[in-house]
Amino acid sequence: MNVSYRCPACERPARAALAAGAEVLACPRCGHALRLPAGAWEGGRVNRCLTCPSQDLYVRKDFSQRLGVAIVLIGFAASCVTWHFYYVTATFGILLGTFLADALLYVLVGECLVCYACRSEYRGVEGVREHGRFSLETFERYRQQAARLRQRRAPHEEAAETRSGQAP
Ligand SMILES: [Zn+2]
Ligand SMILES: [Zn+2]
Repeated sequence: MNVSYRCPACERPARAALAAGAEVLACPRCGHALRLPAGAWEGGRVNRCLTCPSQDLYVRKDFSQRLGVAIVLIGFAASCVTWHFYYVTATFGILLGTFLADALLYVLVGECLVCYACRSEYRGVEGVREHGRFSLETFERYRQQAARLRQRRAPHEEAAETRSGQAP
């Protein structure tokens, strides 16, 4: 399994391999050893986020949005050229091909586990499907918490946005 997270010591994005049941996660950049929270593992499976105390994790397709968008943009640019030269069939062929390439890529990629709170990502996780899918409600809760924390750090910024955006 490997973990992508933001190291709390050097605050840079880090990626490290981790064996199931490990107790310490060492930052490959600065060497900071992060002690994993109690109950992080359950029978060799990730039970909660290993890099923050959050228990809310969700499963998502490990699909690179950047790559997906790049494919669409390249397809769109190519179709503009063929459209300009009145190659109608080629234009629609390219657009359809672009759509199929994106769909195929989406189906072929694996799944990864993501923490709502700190956005750490876990790949190659055993039993990944036992975790829930993305929930907008939970995501919003964490987003608002993070916004409140930011405002506490920067009190001159008006708190109005958080108050108006609070969940009922
Ligand atoms: Zn570090
Ligand atoms: Zn986390």
